[in-house]
Amino acid sequence: MDEWQAGTKLVHSGIRRSQYGEMSEALFLTQGYVYATAEAAEARFEALGEDEFIYSRYANPTTRMFEERLAAVEGTQDAFATASGMAAVHGVLVSVLKAGDHVVAARALFGSCLIVLDMFRRFGVEVTLVDGRDLDAWRAAVRPGTRAVFFESVSNPTLEVIDIKAVAEIAHAAGALVIVDNVFATPVGSRATEMGADLVIYSATKHIDGGGRVLGGVICGSADLIRGTVEPCLKHLGPSISPFNAWVMLKGMETLALRVRAMTASAQALAQAVEGHPALARTIYPGLASHPQHALALEQMRHGGTIVALDLAGGKAAAFRFLNALRVFTLSNNLGDAKSIATHPATTTHQRLPADQKVTLGITPGLVRLSLGIEDAADIVADVTRALDMI
Ligand SMILES: *Cc1c(COP(=O)(O)O)cnc(C)c1O
Repeated sequence: MDEWQAGTKLVHSGIRRSQYGEMSEALFLTQGYVYATAEAAEARFEALGEDEFIYSRYANPTTRMFEERLAAVEGTQDAFATASGMAAVHGVLVSVLKAGDHVVAARALFGSCLIVLDMFRRFGVEVTLVDGRDLDAWRAAVRPGTRAVFFESVSNPTLEVIDIKAVAEIAHAAGALVIVDNVFATPVGSRATEMGADLVIYSATKHIDGGGRVLGGVICGSADLIRGTVEPCLKHLGPSISPFNAWVMLKGMETLALRVRAMTASAQALAQAVEGHPALARTIYPGLASHPQHALALEQMRHGGTIVALDLAGGKAAAFRFLNALRVFTLSNNLGDAKSIATHPATTTHQRLPADQKVTLGITPGLVRLSLGIEDAADIVADVTRALDMI
C-alpha cells in the first residue's frame, strides 16, 4: 500500500471495516464506547488496543480513518484531526511551544495565523516575522533558542512560494521544528515532508472537503510528534473534529486527486490565456514560467496550484467591474471548492490589515484571487476573458 500513488491512497487508505463489511466508510456518530465488563473497562484504560476507543474527544473510528488516510497520502507516520484549520495551527503551536521559546514565521500568512502568533506573545513566546522568500532573513532570525519555524508553502493571496528544503536546513541546524501550512499546495503532489517539514498542516475545509460543506483540519507528522507531543496536549484541550465532519472529509478525499488535477489544469490554462491581457498589471501563477519561483513550485508540489491571482491595472474600480461581470465564478472568500470562486482580498479577507502591510505583502487594490473549480476549463477561461475584455 505504501507504493500506491496518491490517487489510490485517497480512495483506499485507512479503511476500518466493521463486522458488517460495509462498502462505504462507516460514520460512527458516537461520543463514547461501552465495555462488556468492569474488567474490560479497566483493561482498556490501562492499555488501548489498535481497534479500541474510550472517548471521541481522544479518538473515534471514523476520525481515525480520516487521519490514517491523510497520513498515508502525505507520507507521514501519523496525523491528528481537528475541528478547523485554525484549530490545527493553534493546536500544533500550543503543543510544541512554552514560555521563553522563539518562533520565526513568514510574514505572508493567512490573517488568523498572524493573530494566533500574536496571541502567543501574551504567553511569553517571542515571534519574529521575516520575508519568507529571503533565505538570508531566515538565517539572520533563527537562533539557538528558536523552537519552531512556521510558514505557508504557498502564500495567500500573492502566491509566494517558500523553499521548504532550504528553510528546513536553516531551522534544523538550530534545532528548530519546521511547521508548514500546506493548504495551497494540497496533499496531492505535496513533497513537504520529503523536503524537511516536521509537521504539515491542512485546513481540510478547503480542497479536502471540496464541496464547501464542513470545517476541519489536520496535523501530519511522525508518530513521535503526533502521538508523543500533539495528541497528549490536544486530547485534553478538546479541538476534536466531529465524526460527521471527518466522514465528509473521507468521502471528499475519494475525489481529491481528480479535483486537484482538474483545478490545476484549468488554472494553468487560464493563467496562460490571460497573461499579458491589457487590463492586467500582473498575472500571478506558480505554474507560469514568469513566476519568480516557478521551478521551485514544480519541484516541491509537482503542480502550479489551484489558485491564480490577477492584478487589475485599473485598481479597485477595475477589480470590482471584473468581479461583478463574472458568471461562472461565485463571489466568496472560501477556496478549493468544486465551484470556481473569486475574492477581492483588499476589501474582504485582508480588509483589516494595515495599509503599509498590504503594500509589503503585495495586496494591491486591483488584486483578485481566483480559486479554480471543476467546471469545464473552456467555460472558466471564457468567463474570465470576457470579464477582462469588458473593462
Ligand atoms: C483557510 C486557511 C486556514 C484556516 O482554516 P479554517 O479551516 O478556516 O480554520 C489556515 N491557513 C490557510 C493557508 C488557509 O487557507
